[in-house]
Amino acid sequence: MRKRPLLTLKPREGRRARAGAPWIFSNELVMSAEAKALVPGTLVDVAGDDGRDFGSGYFNPKSLIALRLLAREAGARIDASFFAARLTRALALRQALYDKPFYRLIHAEGDGLPGLTIDRFGDVLVVQITTAGMENLLTPLTMALEEVLAPATILLRNDTPSRALEGLDSYVRAQKGEPGRIALEENGSRYFADLGQGQKTGWYYDQRDNRAFIAGLARGKTVLDAFSYSGGFGIAAAKGGAKEVICLDSSAPALALAEDSASANQVSIRAVKADVFEELERLVAGKEVFDIVVADPPPFVKSKKDLEAGARAYRKLARLAGDVVAPGGLVLLASCSHNIPADRFAAQCAGGLMRGGRRATLIRSAGAGPDHPVHPMLPESAYLKALVYALD
Ligand code: SAH
Repeated sequence: MRKRPLLTLKPREGRRARAGAPWIFSNELVMSAEAKALVPGTLVDVAGDDGRDFGSGYFNPKSLIALRLLAREAGARIDASFFAARLTRALALRQALYDKPFYRLIHAEGDGLPGLTIDRFGDVLVVQITTAGMENLLTPLTMALEEVLAPATILLRNDTPSRALEGLDSYVRAQKGEPGRIALEENGSRYFADLGQGQKTGWYYDQRDNRAFIAGLARGKTVLDAFSYSGGFGIAAAKGGAKEVICLDSSAPALALAEDSASANQVSIRAVKADVFEELERLVAGKEVFDIVVADPPPFVKSKKDLEAGARAYRKLARLAGDVVAPGGLVLLASCSHNIPADRFAAQCAGGLMRGGRRATLIRSAGAGPDHPVHPMLPESAYLKALVYALD
């Protein structure tokens, strides 16, 4: 095999990588003219300034996270068998966790495959690639998926905005089979997703355990599932015996899937298409309350510069959501923004709930389920926050 380009760390740089992190930043590397000229996504070896081997990875001279390590030894073969080994390991973890084939199969660095997310819906795989390095490896990845899972359908959902930062175009394409509407099962409930049209990969597996928690408290209760998407929380609550469930979202196609899901589970929900903030104001004005309120919005802090505005939106949502919780009820407040730290989000939620003049206690503080593993040196990649408060 032809030798790969060798990049070196600057003296005394790469502290995080030395400690085991899979990222090396551009300011930590010797950016020679040759390095700068490398095509984004080139496979490289990397060494310390003392010549110590750091491993193999892919490099993008245009990206702040310039190097993402794939293996801890130089010259590691990054081929179909490399991917098959990582996939097999990731699959074994999911099979130990779940008895049905519906889960996040690959969660990027958490599964040793930076730049790659794969959600599994039975024999349908939805693949999302966010880096030039991973995009270049699509062929060996596809070969390994065939070998390990032989899926009927592979959909490339490569339309995340972050791809632009890596110089990648945006596209959605079936690599194999015909993606369309699919059914999935989670916590014993049946749901639907429309893979070509839906948001992100079509389903948010990350809230699985939080949905089960809410479902377990829902018997005989009234539930408002705000930002419901296709009914993840609402259907679970209805199956858990809730006496009334409203799914509230601005997306008509998402609500239509929630209604189909209700029928498939032989429960009933009321789907309301409205802006959550406006609808909450209306409910507050009408003094309508619910025993359980879930508010799981889209990310309000899309980038670091949005932090203050996004934080204010989380606080406002907490206040409004708290205002429609019945005495003795519960509210779940969630954030899927990478860019707001957990303690700041909790402070915003507390501030919003206190503004309403209610006594609140935090009864659960959780994140994504275990099919979203976090690399221990990248705690910031644990993006999901879900806080449950009991109100007096
Ligand atoms: N809770 C869901 C995931 C929510 S994703 C689950 O468990 O699967 C965020 C949802 O918020 C999307 O469905 C989107 O259509 C909806 N949304 C975004 N902005 C909204 C707004 N202002 N009012 C109502 N819904 C909104």
